Amino acid sequence: RRGRLAAERGLPHVTADDQPFGLYANVSSDVEVRLALDSGAIGSGLVRTELQFMEADRWPSEADHRRVLAPLLAEAAGRPVTVRLLDFANDKIPPFLTPPAGLPVLLANPSAVTAQVRAIVDLGRDVGLRIMVPMVSSPDQLAPVRAAVEAAAVSFGVPAPPVGAMVETIAAVREIEALCQVVDFVSIGSNDLTSEVLDLNRVDPRARTELAAHPRVLSLIGRVVEAAVAAGLPPLTVCGDAGSHPTTLPLLLGAGVRSVSVAVARIDETRWRLRRLDTEQCRALFTHALRLGGAGEVAELVDERIEVTM
Ligand code: PEP
Ligand code: MG
Repeated sequence: RRGRLAAERGLPHVTADDQPFGLYANVSSDVEVRLALDSGAIGSGLVRTELQFMEADRWPSEADHRRVLAPLLAEAAGRPVTVRLLDFANDKIPPFLTPPAGLPVLLANPSAVTAQVRAIVDLGRDVGLRIMVPMVSSPDQLAPVRAAVEAAAVSFGVPAPPVGAMVETIAAVREIEALCQVVDFVSIGSNDLTSEVLDLNRVDPRARTELAAHPRVLSLIGRVVEAAVAAGLPPLTVCGDAGSHPTTLPLLLGAGVRSVSVAVARIDETRWRLRRLDTEQCRALFTHALRLGGAGEVAELVDERIEVTM
């Protein structure tokens, strides 16, 4: 089966009804970038930068960030790459921080932001660079990051890269129209969004990817897609695991999502599925799903209506 999925690597990224889609990889190392490009991903829609620092005893310095990013960005030369700022939140908190940590704690340490942003901007010259802020809960949180990005761009004599927000909290969805006014792009983090909407801890074994099929989650996703389109932002990417799950992928397509960033090991399968899905059929499925009572009922509906043979 793996060989059959891999055989489509060179084929166009279009759905069954010829709608183009973006297929990116979530990565955190140069090895993963290589694997992702070999699997036919266009680039990375999410570089997780915190994983290398889970044992850190202080904020990473500019040199620490450079050490991690240099090989990764070199491997991705010429490709679009969205680098996310340190996401020390929820399940990812190093020993030097005390929970709940998260974006407010990063922003309270401007030198930590500057150190990372300088490394990214300087080393990102040879990629199609974008910088993404995790766990945004208010539009105000973008200004200090944008200021740091612009200062770094001036200091290295390069154009300032686009700055965007991950939409993965209920608060961000509530203010999505205002948020869209202060960002260059948005990306949906379905993992955290689903956990918050359904009030589950990320490490709870019940917090499974397919719960993103819950009508309450789907309706928030639909709202974000509409707001991004209305604001004239570039097509948004879903970078949570819902972007590669057989139940949720058709629903995302139905919500109007045209770009996903998925785990490296899921690229071939996700391409296979996307090439066999029909966006009109998915649109009807999504509308129907919004009226159902829970993720289980939606999963049954998807099973009944969508058949992708592998
Ligand atoms: C998400 O929350 O969906 C996401 C992509 O970010 P992470 O899994 O790194 O929290
Ligand atoms: Mg997240």
